[in-house]
Amino acid sequence: MLEILHRIVQEVNSSPDLGEALDVIVKRVKQAVAVDVCSVYLTDFERRTHVLRATNGLRQEAVGKVGLPLHRGLVGLVCERAEPINLDDAPSHPRYLFMTESGEVLYHGFLGVPIIQNRRVLGVLVVRQRKPRKFDDGEVSFLFTLAAQLAGAITHAKASGELISLQESLETPARFLQGRPSASGVAVGKVVVAYRMADLSVVPDRESDDPQGDIDLFRGAVARVEEDLKQLQARMNETLPAEELALFDALLLMLGGDSLVGQTVDRIRSGEWVQTALHHTIEEHARVFDKMDDIYLRERASDIRDLGRRILMRLQTDTPDEIEHPDRTILVGEELSAVDLVEVPKDKLAAIVSASGSASSHVAILARGIGVPAIMGVEDLPVGRVDGWDAIVDGYRGRIYLSPEPSVCMEYERLVEEDLEFGRELEAVGRQPSETTDGIQVPLHLNTGLISEMGAVGLTEAAGVGLYRTELPFMIRDRFPGEAVQIANYRKVLETFAPRPVVLRTLDIGGDKPLPYFPVSESNPFLGWRGIRISLDHPEIFLTQVRAMLLAASGLDNLQIMLPMITTISEVDELVGLIQRALSELLEEGHEVADPPVGVMVEVPALVYQIETLARKVDFISIGTNDLTQYLLAVDRNNPRVAELYNDMHPAVLRALMTVVEGAHRFGRPVSVCGEMAGNPLATILLLGMGVDTLSMSAGSLLKVKWVIRSVSRTRARELLQSVLRIEDARQIREFLEDVLKQIGLSGLVRPGR
Ligand code: PEP
Ligand code: MG
Repeated sequence: MLEILHRIVQEVNSSPDLGEALDVIVKRVKQAVAVDVCSVYLTDFERRTHVLRATNGLRQEAVGKVGLPLHRGLVGLVCERAEPINLDDAPSHPRYLFMTESGEVLYHGFLGVPIIQNRRVLGVLVVRQRKPRKFDDGEVSFLFTLAAQLAGAITHAKASGELISLQESLETPARFLQGRPSASGVAVGKVVVAYRMADLSVVPDRESDDPQGDIDLFRGAVARVEEDLKQLQARMNETLPAEELALFDALLLMLGGDSLVGQTVDRIRSGEWVQTALHHTIEEHARVFDKMDDIYLRERASDIRDLGRRILMRLQTDTPDEIEHPDRTILVGEELSAVDLVEVPKDKLAAIVSASGSASSHVAILARGIGVPAIMGVEDLPVGRVDGWDAIVDGYRGRIYLSPEPSVCMEYERLVEEDLEFGRELEAVGRQPSETTDGIQVPLHLNTGLISEMGAVGLTEAAGVGLYRTELPFMIRDRFPGEAVQIANYRKVLETFAPRPVVLRTLDIGGDKPLPYFPVSESNPFLGWRGIRISLDHPEIFLTQVRAMLLAASGLDNLQIMLPMITTISEVDELVGLIQRALSELLEEGHEVADPPVGVMVEVPALVYQIETLARKVDFISIGTNDLTQYLLAVDRNNPRVAELYNDMHPAVLRALMTVVEGAHRFGRPVSVCGEMAGNPLATILLLGMGVDTLSMSAGSLLKVKWVIRSVSRTRARELLQSVLRIEDARQIREFLEDVLKQIGLSGLVRPGR
């Protein structure tokens, strides 16, 4: 049975559309269970019917036409109960409904199982037998397992199918796909799909049936890649330092030299298919470098593989030379990353939509930083089919409308207008100090990560940078940036904000921030080799970074260094020791560098319980609520399936924050919050009440949070916090805080997603 199940699932997954997928199911299930009829009904809650979408045994003409009323018949019962119903004599059941349109004769044996995805019934899979038949346990679990396995595939195919008919007929207005609201705002634009580069490792071994044709194809692809690289080099000329640009020269040299190209051509001549020949040549070359001891030379292996991927991509597709991004690009992808985002010219990026990920994924955080609406976790999005479509992105409600109706467009134009109005209201707050009504100053800092983000709002309003994520500049390069590149990068941030403080966080890669040139493969990346753990195992990377930070701050003295993902106190001791070592080496070398304040991020729950020991050892504490929430609640911050559970206003998170603030204050250490919670105006009152000293957030949140701070007193915030601590559930806490904001006249902030 298991093998049959696997085969069916495979066949369904490779079906081009919903219709074929369902035809496969009904045909194969009918054979496997030896029944007279197998049908699939899909439930349309809007029209309150279960529509017959595929059958093997009933009349084919009924498909798509026959609809069973939502709450009637046995199919209705399976849907209501959301569990299987197994009857040997269906007609004697009170809910039995006899339908003639589908050519039904009297069937006695009945087994119906619900198809469920994310707690929602999508439809019902039914088998029937003329003779009375009670299906045995094995048969029930076979159908049950099949339905569960297929729910995902059906959801996806269903979405595509619906979207295609929507494209053609536009009969149903306002159809949208739902995801997680991840950065507020509305955008109307055109979809551009971000594809992953071709994967060499999956190229099969095949023989060429036209070697000369393959050689021509290959030479053509090489010439195109050469052209691509030259264009890319010219485009990056102004933004990348000379050291980085040299990479393009190295790649071009490899392409121009005879060994890569010559060997591939030889392989094709000896009978290998062009893609196979490329795969083998690239692997052979890369393996030579893989074995080298020198870290720099080892990295050349990834350069070679990168080159291979580029050629393969050219061979596999006839993609145009460069994606032309339309003026209002809505970037869509299966799993968008920070790198995909920065590849779109900033003035053309209108919104981002990702099939996976959630509001706490780094790409979403980045989108908030540059003020671009974002929706994450749109699981039903048929990414492969929507390139070039018109779309509306509603970042407040997490909706993407594909090929929207004119009436929907009008509604959204109104919303854009409202947003502008709201922005003007906020502008007035910008010039005022960030101070409560009883005169407590709460400096607001900026979270940032890319120099290109600068120039947006917040540059003048922010009292400093509370979190500079140094891994983002590492992510958009092809190798570890050297000391000089890092100095230039950090200097720019430090200089832009001087004399205001800038907190540079040491490298926090791993988790959902992999480096393309430093692959780490783990089954549990968020619990694995991440952040400071990598720095401790690679002191050379850490020391280079710290040296660059100290040198960049020379003469400015506004640098603060922050350590992420600390779990134990001894890690702090070791890292502070390394920072001191870098400092004394630089002083010995004759540089004018100063000893910076060093702080730790509290984002691993263990530290909450050691806060006092920690506080004694460092100059400041910054709470990373994004990770703290994920680790306290055991909810992956990137997983849309459990995103409902991810809530930084969970009572346990609030209590953890209070413990940290109180513990750090006992030793006179200031506390900042730099997770996304700091930029959520609903949470502002709670953080104020706890006595958090500074808040650090994306540029887009600064004015909203300041508006809240200027509207309450610290005393009132403390009282409200006490009331919130009596509430047991995060959802109720949110409702309570929404009411509070309305009462103090800030209802403009209460719209979903704001
Ligand atoms: C956090 O975890 O809250 C944080 C600010 O760090 P990051 O989001 O970069 O993991
Ligand atoms: Mg973190």
